[in-house]
Amino acid sequence: MRVNWRLINAARNSYAALFAACSLYGFDLHPVYSPLADITCYSLNSLNEPSYRDEIRDAGCITVVGGPHATACPRKVAQYADYVVAGEGEFTLPRLLAHLEDGKEGPVPGVVTRDGALPADHSVRLDAFPPFSVMKGYIEISRGCPFGCAFCQTPRIFGPVMRHRSIDAIASYARRYRDVRMVSPNALAYGSDGRRPRLDKVGRLLASLEGNVYFGTFPNEVRPEFVTGEALELIGRSCANTRIAFGIQSGSDRVLKRIGRGHTVADGMRAVELSRDHGFTPVVDLMMGFPFETSEDEEMTLDLIRWVVRSGSVRLHAFIPLPGTPLAGTVPRPVSPRAGQILGRLALDGRLTGSWLDPATRFSSLRADTSL
Ligand code: SF4
Repeated sequence: MRVNWRLINAARNSYAALFAACSLYGFDLHPVYSPLADITCYSLNSLNEPSYRDEIRDAGCITVVGGPHATACPRKVAQYADYVVAGEGEFTLPRLLAHLEDGKEGPVPGVVTRDGALPADHSVRLDAFPPFSVMKGYIEISRGCPFGCAFCQTPRIFGPVMRHRSIDAIASYARRYRDVRMVSPNALAYGSDGRRPRLDKVGRLLASLEGNVYFGTFPNEVRPEFVTGEALELIGRSCANTRIAFGIQSGSDRVLKRIGRGHTVADGMRAVELSRDHGFTPVVDLMMGFPFETSEDEEMTLDLIRWVVRSGSVRLHAFIPLPGTPLAGTVPRPVSPRAGQILGRLALDGRLTGSWLDPATRFSSLRADTSL
């Protein structure tokens, strides 16, 4: 049985992880640019899913779809795909492939079809699966998040309990890189329950790594209240990065409370100042366009942006009502023309990056697709 993997740039890390996981069970995922027999697997997020829907529906082979979008609305995806892997794929995908190879019938835990669904019966222990093998990818060091930010799919996909890869396993995969980049929802939460930092464990992890280690910056950003002097000194001693990236998400405490961020604007500003005082450039993620954002909230976020860019930079994102989140199906508030002009000027100066205009156009198809 030949199993193919549809190459999609946004899913290259999923390919690395699932290639490695499926290899453990004797399945190679052959890279393809169009669906081919016997089986073609896809990993889709909610932004690229509309581009692949027709291809999957018209495929002349068995199709298996996973990823954040499939996990958020599996029944919708099962209307055009043969099998939907809802949730973590490392164990479920090879289990489904073995089921198909053996010609078995009936449901597979964690898989949704037009005929029904069986909930997953496990959660993945990171050390049980390599982060990558011959297809290289980032080293995922932690999974899950105890925070429930209303715009974010992460805790809905991976659950609220943080799991961590062991230091020995991370160090052994890191040795294959000169530049070591890891994936985590909050790098400074490594080894902890996600709420109370364990800098002793972060320190042991960093001490075990060789090469140029990038920690607390893309793709393992941190939460602002985890940015402390002690944490920054640790990163400064052990790592190559000169930037620290964290989300504040809004300049309005009212909005932060509404989206359940679990920190205040003051926490974020403290993280900016601490980063700068320790010689790091703060890179701050912010969002605009929450459906309940008022003109006053927007002005507060603009004020925060102007303050941050004095010592760092901002990555601004338009709010997206992602399927599977509490804000799914809501309508983003357009950024005002005045704010657009200010943001445009900051972007031209190179102090602001991101995409904040017209989320309604980009995501109108999502709003029709939000039932789980
Ligand atoms: S935005 Fe970050 S802290 Fe909030 S739920 Fe998502 S991963 Fe967790």
